Amino acid sequence: MPHELHAEEKQTTIFQCASCGGSALFDPESQQLKCQFCESLTPIERTDEQHIEYPLWETLATYERGERETTRIFHCDNCGAETVLDPYNIADFCSFCGSSHIEEQNVEEVITPSLVVPFQVTHQQAIQKFREWMKKRYFAPSKLMQLHQMDKLTGIYIPYWTFDADTFSKYTVNVGTHYYVTETYTYTDGDGKTQVGTRTVQKTRWHIESGTYTEWFDDILVQATHQTAKALIRKVEPFHLGGLTDYKDEYISGFLAERYAVGLDDGWSIATQAMDRAIRSGIEYQVNGDIVQIMKLKTEYSDETFKHLLLPIWLSSFRFKDKTYQFIINGQTGKVSGQAPISWVKVLLTTLGIAFVAFLFYMYMEMQ
Ligand SMILES: [Zn+2]
Ligand SMILES: [Zn+2]
Repeated sequence: MPHELHAEEKQTTIFQCASCGGSALFDPESQQLKCQFCESLTPIERTDEQHIEYPLWETLATYERGERETTRIFHCDNCGAETVLDPYNIADFCSFCGSSHIEEQNVEEVITPSLVVPFQVTHQQAIQKFREWMKKRYFAPSKLMQLHQMDKLTGIYIPYWTFDADTFSKYTVNVGTHYYVTETYTYTDGDGKTQVGTRTVQKTRWHIESGTYTEWFDDILVQATHQTAKALIRKVEPFHLGGLTDYKDEYISGFLAERYAVGLDDGWSIATQAMDRAIRSGIEYQVNGDIVQIMKLKTEYSDETFKHLLLPIWLSSFRFKDKTYQFIINGQTGKVSGQAPISWVKVLLTTLGIAFVAFLFYMYMEMQ
């Protein structure tokens, strides 16, 4: 990324087939570029720079200085998603919400992805998964299947940040240790006589303790997609980050890539919240005691680095009776999630059908 930080127009590369000169797109099946005309395959050169982490503060400082390049994106007025298009894609609807209220914009883009999980699930497999899923939506309106346009199933790379950091924390805790005492008490027995009994009672002794805690965090994953897609995408997580490879424009060709909606600085503050939670439970575990209440905590971060990742999903948004429904597939693992409209006529008929069968059964039993 530092080498990407020049104020220049970003040219999206078009890949040409070596045999016929036709356009070649990324093919999930072969993990190579495939010519759309003669189907010949071109391997994508694999490099392994995965160990490269980018320094957080230096990058943010460069960003502040305004050294940025511009990228052509489509902005959706309805849900706010911003999609980077490759030269083969012309957007006439938003893949996230199906809205056609989209406009082309040139935005300043600083940070380009460094790693990507290339699509594993092909378009055909995605369509197949959608059909299977739809078949199980018994109460979905029958019209939906015909209405739904399969060409609206889009492959999109979703933006994420990952952060690494070293942490050193100083804490003050209130520690409670349980101990048990035997108490005597009086009670009235069944004959109305007063008796003396004993019982064990738990008590807690408190003391204040201070200490230090260190933890190194590796690859704290933060979603950088726009607000409305976050919950949706979470349903098909996790992604296996072992499948990450160095980013190459080749992997994007034929697909869309969402531009990050959560900036690097906001991503970092989300990551620190996650680290803070981990540090707190780490301290609670480290301190000896039955109850550990953290009263003061101060954490210093060092060696903060980040990476910008793209992870693949297949997404279909369809509108039915003025409502948007979504169907989503993890483009790496094939995990499926979605919502479908419910046909109340079908629900009513089914309910009536069950009631009728129950009625027949009742009549039959009565006649025995
Ligand atoms: Zn060709
Ligand atoms: Zn949208």
